Amino acid sequence: MTLSVSVFSIGPMGNNSYLIYDPQINQGVVIDPSFGSKLIMNEAVRMGLQITAIWLTHAHFDHIAGVAELVSSPDSSIPINIHPKDLKLYQQNGGADEFGLTIAPGPTPTSFFEHGQLLQIGANTFEVRHTPGHTPGHVVFYSASERLVFCGDLIFQNGIGRTDLPGGSFAELVNSIQTQIFTLPPETRLLPGHGSDTTVEEEREGLSAY
Ligand SMILES: [Zn+2]
Ligand SMILES: [Zn+2]
Repeated sequence: MTLSVSVFSIGPMGNNSYLIYDPQINQGVVIDPSFGSKLIMNEAVRMGLQITAIWLTHAHFDHIAGVAELVSSPDSSIPINIHPKDLKLYQQNGGADEFGLTIAPGPTPTSFFEHGQLLQIGANTFEVRHTPGHTPGHVVFYSASERLVFCGDLIFQNGIGRTDLPGGSFAELVNSIQTQIFTLPPETRLLPGHGSDTTVEEEREGLSAY
């Protein structure tokens, strides 16, 4: 086992922010830092971990609210990675205004995901899968060796992502789930942006109507 996963359930929307790291090299990344991500930074410091990147599944405000807290100075070297199709949403503070909320904007991302790209954390490889529908630039991160997917707001335990926000598409969401999630081995764990873990098998049974 070369990957450790810590989940932080934080913020008013009950987000799961993930700190994932390779304990052999003490380096890791944060996926979707939400409100209160100072907690994650404190934990990383306590464990002697270096955070080498921020990976965003998508740019909704509750998934990016903690970027500024992790990246303490404008010239911080922690790269912020996002799919280019969600950059505009990121620059609009993730639609926080529509919810009557404000977030402290973080630096503009300069690293962009593409479908099929491979990401490395020590010995662990993750594949970026573009999964539009909830937002146009939504992506998930799949580790075949660890049999898990960080799936953001694409799919949840007993549910799927909402598609009524700007840029959403129900048809695209269903297509993304069918082609990028339901094709994975049934035992693959799904670690969503909100709520409990589930598996491909459990959700495939629940969503057989699609
Ligand atoms: Zn979202
Ligand atoms: Zn969300």
